[in-house]
Amino acid sequence: MKINPKYTTKEAALELYNKQLMELMYHAATVHREYHDPLEVQMSTLISIKTGGCPEDCGYCPQSAKYNTDLDVHAMMPVDEVVGLAKNAKESGSSRVCMGAAWRNVRDNRDFDKVVEMVQEINGMGMEVCATLGMLNEAQAERLKKAGLYAYNHNLDSSREFYKDIISTREYDNRIDTIANARNAGISVCSGGIIGMGESAEDRIGMLMTYVHMEQPPESIPINALVAVEGTPLEDQKPVETWDMVRMIATSRIMFPQSIIRLSAGRTQMSREAQAMCFMAGASSIFAGDKLLTTPNPEYNEDVELFEILGMKPKAPFQDGEQPETLPDERVDKAKADRTAREKRLAEAKLKKADPNFEPRKVTVE
Ligand code: SF4
Repeated sequence: MKINPKYTTKEAALELYNKQLMELMYHAATVHREYHDPLEVQMSTLISIKTGGCPEDCGYCPQSAKYNTDLDVHAMMPVDEVVGLAKNAKESGSSRVCMGAAWRNVRDNRDFDKVVEMVQEINGMGMEVCATLGMLNEAQAERLKKAGLYAYNHNLDSSREFYKDIISTREYDNRIDTIANARNAGISVCSGGIIGMGESAEDRIGMLMTYVHMEQPPESIPINALVAVEGTPLEDQKPVETWDMVRMIATSRIMFPQSIIRLSAGRTQMSREAQAMCFMAGASSIFAGDKLLTTPNPEYNEDVELFEILGMKPKAPFQDGEQPETLPDERVDKAKADRTAREKRLAEAKLKKADPNFEPRKVTVE
């Protein structure tokens, strides 16, 4: 992944961001065509595998336990259910599945074993697997990589300066450390931010500058428009102007010419014409499906219709990197063996209840 060497200072990047909008869009569209097929869009499906009850206080997030929002909290979903949703997503044209859990950080418990199993299964289906699980240490990142994880999402959200107005329960540097742990394990990085939280143009550029100064910028940069949810501290924020979204996408496209720039949350507030402008400005990915973790997203059919109008098509998986290999995982294999033994015991007990003389058949292997 490379950065555009012309925009490595905050001043140059800000000047770019503030360029006349039509000029900025034309510039971004030109860069986009140089590095990407402008008619292809990566479709990614986000599945909330564990919802709500998060101890963090991110001011935009209805999943924080600190805010009183109208949210259906649910515990970790069963592996089969998540795999079923991933199959549906694949049939609907998604090449990537991103699994989100509302955790502060990953813990080495049975829920994490389940995530590892989900990664193994979905990678086995030939889809790119991404996860967003909060903070992650080196060993956990390596375990996910061995399971076949393609990408890890961990957003910086905004600039270092503005970040503390939005989140107090963890530091900006914690986020940078998690990104580094994923990167060092050989996992592709997905990291971006949210606009419309009350930040300035300098803050938006400040976030992009953090990526410029990383050893390697993220392969995928999601740009979200705040969805102001009732009950969160940001509930009264005004909707983001389309022009701001186009400006932010175009600037990101020019500064990170090879990265995927994702038009993420906030699409339901945008007209089809506004979304088309974002694609023109270099957006190369969207989230598909009617929900984005907990906030609304356009229906699948609406996207199919929009793609038809614009002459665009979904991008196939693994166009930007090789499919990771799934290696055996001791804890998942043991959990699977325990499950099989338990199911066998239950089946035998059922048969015994129906026929008290039933004895399991003994098989001798010579
Ligand atoms: S954004 Fe993530 S870490 Fe922050 S409150 Fe929501 S679920 Fe928790």
